[in-house]
Amino acid sequence: MDTFQFSRPTTVDQAVQLGAASPTAQQSAEVRFVAGGTTLIDLMKLNIERPRQVVDINVLPLEKIEAAPNGGLIIGALARNSDVAHHPTVQRDYPVLSQAILSGASPQLRNMATTGGNLLQRTRCIYFRDTEHACNKREPGTGCSAIEGHNRMLAILGTSKDCIATNPSDQNVALTALEATIQVQGTKGKRSIPIHEFYLLPGSTPDKETVLEPGDVILSVTLPPPVAGANSHYLKLRDRAAYEFALASAAVVLKLSGSRIQHARVALGGVGTRPWRSLEAERVLQGHTAEVATFRRASEEALKDARPASENGFKVELAKRCIVRALTMSTKTA
Ligand code: SF4
Repeated sequence: MDTFQFSRPTTVDQAVQLGAASPTAQQSAEVRFVAGGTTLIDLMKLNIERPRQVVDINVLPLEKIEAAPNGGLIIGALARNSDVAHHPTVQRDYPVLSQAILSGASPQLRNMATTGGNLLQRTRCIYFRDTEHACNKREPGTGCSAIEGHNRMLAILGTSKDCIATNPSDQNVALTALEATIQVQGTKGKRSIPIHEFYLLPGSTPDKETVLEPGDVILSVTLPPPVAGANSHYLKLRDRAAYEFALASAAVVLKLSGSRIQHARVALGGVGTRPWRSLEAERVLQGHTAEVATFRRASEEALKDARPASENGFKVELAKRCIVRALTMSTKTA
């Protein structure tokens, strides 16, 4: 691990100033914010992240979970994953988020990991975490070892010729199905970013994963008011039952009127280069009968643009079955 400067701002304004110390966006890796440290510290030990300055934001007042004026919920960026998952309002009104968080990592990690940090979780691609191998995400322009290498865990949606890494988060899949908005403060003031605009596709610049700019501090995540009468479900399929990343997962929100689907949201994990909202699946579901045949058609639409690599073709059918099963489960809790 390289030496680095360490600072602990006491206000968001100070944190923004310190974070913006990188002169250009390309050099933004020179400064890193640390909260729970469950990703950053690992990556620093592996020499994947080599910041010159680490800014500890743990004393900022961003840990609250509170009701929004419009009936939604505001989750502070420093709210720990375990506090979010066990919060009574989350469990009652947004159970898909609680299920998603509790399906990830371990209790110890969830006690440390924060909402904002989870939003910025880095990929688990093995080549990204091994400096002996070429990786465009870690070192732009060096190539992608995964395309011809071990890619069983990697993405089949949203990939490019330069990167096929999967976004590993469970939380972010649920937040996508819930249409969360992310509040940020940067050098030009505050702004709100809908989660579907927050993550970038890898394209030819897989090192740039979000729309955040140097200095941007995530303040909170806002959930819209829960859809009255809707049910939700998070289903995660993986190689073992605990402490494992998704091969495929689905977060669904479904509201029925009789047997007709009145409202549907579908997001996928484990298969996309970003948390993957499937508008295609939602269009198939909207207004149609809630039955397996409809769910299957929705799953076909969701995966129609899948581009598997050499080892992960099985994910296409796995993801389809995951969608069908999650939708079926959400009707059973109706
Ligand atoms: Fe790097 Fe992305 Fe290729 Fe993995 S898939 S080696 S993260 S460029």
